[in-house]
Amino acid sequence: MTSKPSPARMPVLFVGHGSPMNVVEDNRWSRGFASLSGLVPMPKAILAISAHWFVRGTYLTGQTNPKTIHDFGGFPPQLYEIQYPARGPVELARRVRTMLGEDRASLSNEWGLDHGTWSVLRWMFPAADVPVLQLSIDSQLSATGHYELGKALRALRSDGVLIVGSGNVVHNLSDALRRMGSKSSPTPGWAQRFDNTVAQALTERDTTKLLSLWPGTEDGQMAHPSPDHFWPLLYAYGATDDHDAVQFPTTGFDLGSISMRNVLFG
Ligand code: ZN
Repeated sequence: MTSKPSPARMPVLFVGHGSPMNVVEDNRWSRGFASLSGLVPMPKAILAISAHWFVRGTYLTGQTNPKTIHDFGGFPPQLYEIQYPARGPVELARRVRTMLGEDRASLSNEWGLDHGTWSVLRWMFPAADVPVLQLSIDSQLSATGHYELGKALRALRSDGVLIVGSGNVVHNLSDALRRMGSKSSPTPGWAQRFDNTVAQALTERDTTKLLSLWPGTEDGQMAHPSPDHFWPLLYAYGATDDHDAVQFPTTGFDLGSISMRNVLFG
């Protein structure tokens, strides 16, 4: 009697997206995004949790053709012309809603794909031929609440769905913009420490530690004046377990204090 091989599970990604300019610039970070597609099997669909859909409530994009949202200001015109015409997997949206709880999550036509999602996917899957769904981040939930929602998504991995959290491990925009003006922008101690602490918690699978970092630590509050770019990591981490190896395909800082660390689980 032969046993049927268990279905392969998709890895899970957390991507540090950084500046919207990475979508048009050939640089260390954009090359890093492009290389991620070679590290994962071709997905049937992508579920993205972007820092930039940070609202009261848990929503899923419900459109067949989600619009490309240019949710930034003051960038060159070419960025506003970019379209990422991936199809919206509406059946999957309904399924994910059920997995998260129909009283908690609902489908929405208010959003689409924001730059946290498409600035990365345009490098990973330039043909936009993989259907993409976005999940909002409920600004009212605690770290544990986000982690629990990530856990509820785990089963999707066995169905060829690639879960991608998109934020930044360290993201203090006003600090980064101050540093942008100076010639050399050294990485401050709090940014380096927080980036290292997060990396260690992920490697050791220290969930208690990971969930205690915001708002419970001073470095955490410096690294994230608002937690929007940190919470996507907890969805990605929540969707993984002890069997998943943890790798960091890209590390480093942009503008001194923005951590561009990417995480590959699985
Ligand atoms: Zn961002």
